[in-house]
Amino acid sequence: MRIIVIGGVAAGAKAAAKARRIDASHEIIMYQDEAEMSYSACGMPYVISGVIENERSIIIRTPEEFAKQGIQVWTRHRVVAIDAAKQQLTVKNLNEDTVTSIGYDRLIIATGAAPIVPSVPGITLQGVLTLRSFSDLARFKTTLTELQPRHAVIIGAGYIGLELAETLHSLGIKTTLLEKSLRILPKFDPDMAQLVHDYLLENQVDILLGDGLAQLNGSDGKVSAVQTETGRIIPADLVVVAIGVKPNVNLAQAAGIQLGCTGAIAVDARMATSISGIYAAGDCCETLNRLTGQPTWLPLGDIANLQGRVAGENAAGGDALFPGVLGTAIFKTFKCAVAITGLSEKAAFDAGYNPVSVKMTANDCAGYYPGKQVLTLTLTANRNDGRLLGCQAVGSGKVDKIIDIAATALLGRLTCSELENADFAYAPPFSPVLSPIIVAASLLS
Ligand code: FAD
Ligand code: NAD
Repeated sequence: MRIIVIGGVAAGAKAAAKARRIDASHEIIMYQDEAEMSYSACGMPYVISGVIENERSIIIRTPEEFAKQGIQVWTRHRVVAIDAAKQQLTVKNLNEDTVTSIGYDRLIIATGAAPIVPSVPGITLQGVLTLRSFSDLARFKTTLTELQPRHAVIIGAGYIGLELAETLHSLGIKTTLLEKSLRILPKFDPDMAQLVHDYLLENQVDILLGDGLAQLNGSDGKVSAVQTETGRIIPADLVVVAIGVKPNVNLAQAAGIQLGCTGAIAVDARMATSISGIYAAGDCCETLNRLTGQPTWLPLGDIANLQGRVAGENAAGGDALFPGVLGTAIFKTFKCAVAITGLSEKAAFDAGYNPVSVKMTANDCAGYYPGKQVLTLTLTANRNDGRLLGCQAVGSGKVDKIIDIAATALLGRLTCSELENADFAYAPPFSPVLSPIIVAASLLS
């Protein structure tokens, strides 16, 4: 059987590797339109800051390593059409500008997502960047060297914006975040988002809310200022556009594959699309929110890997299920970690729950132990039955630990009174005698 994978970064690379592990006899071919493949985009902000010295270290596996596993990889090859009736693909060799056809028995679409780039005047000026692909990373680094920017404006105060605010600040570049919404981090409760907002201001990052990009001004072909929708002019010799991503669905849609209500490819729990024999995984497809039971689109690297694994197994003849997501995410800006799992209070209310929340600030280890750090967490539960619905945590303390405990509790559908008596590891360097999440749960039970 021949399995073809379209896209070779996170979901595609994982799907191909899993398919190979399930059955060594299948022919597996992966097409990737970029020159590089199987890289961690998540590591890019740290390459730009210099925390990661060698940019090639974010490449997880090379085509040669895939070849050793019996997976053929064709980089700089773009699949331009899927003929689902004939089970055939049209593939363009981007190096030689030639086109060929190839048949498949099973197909995995892992075409990912692309940055949203508004078509405003000046968008092509030198010094205007996005960050998504490996070539974006190279362009980012070259631009920093060539332009030696002093003032950056990041359009969009989302995950990339807040991670890059730290990166650019660490490079001595004065940074302004321009955010269209009236607050940053709309998936978080307003008071938790405000903590992050205040923290960024303390770190000399300027934030302009409720205003969007109107146009970019330039001189000598280089960007010189951002003009906002309300007419502000912000001088800038570097502009990063980070206003979100959209799923790459054109290829699938043209082949007659159904999209879901989020605009991404609709799949079932086996990652199967609406056309038999065709699977999808990663940022190009939607999934189920396990708390609301509704389709959701959560373009994250860990989800892409989990889904890729399931798509690869099923394409190879296995029978795996991806049960959906909780909405867990984490990022870091300066020394502050920011994380969420499950539903915010508003999302819980919108989903028909009767939510109640508690917010507390605590040390992340014994108060007397050197090096203790602080974190603030919000726990949200359903008032009717005490079931945990969500958790958000912000601070320099061990936010990741709190969020992963909460995510596990959500998976187990625990109530706050069950969580309140959880038997967690304790010694002074690791935790207060009662974990902050136990204390918060006790306040809700
Ligand atoms: P993609 O990474 O988009 O890969 C799809 C690939 O397929 C692309 O190379 C694309 O060019 C190629 N392709 C598309 N169409 C075709 C075609 N027709 N033929 C051939 N090839 C095609 N997520 C986290 O969970 N945690 C993080 O900390 C995190 N940090 C991030 C930081 C940054 C700066 C960025 C940009 C993203 C970050 N993410 C993070 C998100 C994560 O990188 C993505 O969710 C993940 O890369 C999705 O993988 P994917 O394989 O589905 O899609
Ligand atoms: P995002 O969706 O996180 O944030 C985009 C922000 O831009 C939002 O706050 C939005 O309100 C704002 N915006 C939209 N239009 C605007 C406009 N015209 N002017 C000004 N602001 C505008 O998207 P992103 O930061 O571009 O990141 C893309 C994706 O990459 C994320 O969705 C996430 O899935 C992934 N990512 C994840 C991590 C992580 O998990 N640590 C880190 C980086 C990126």
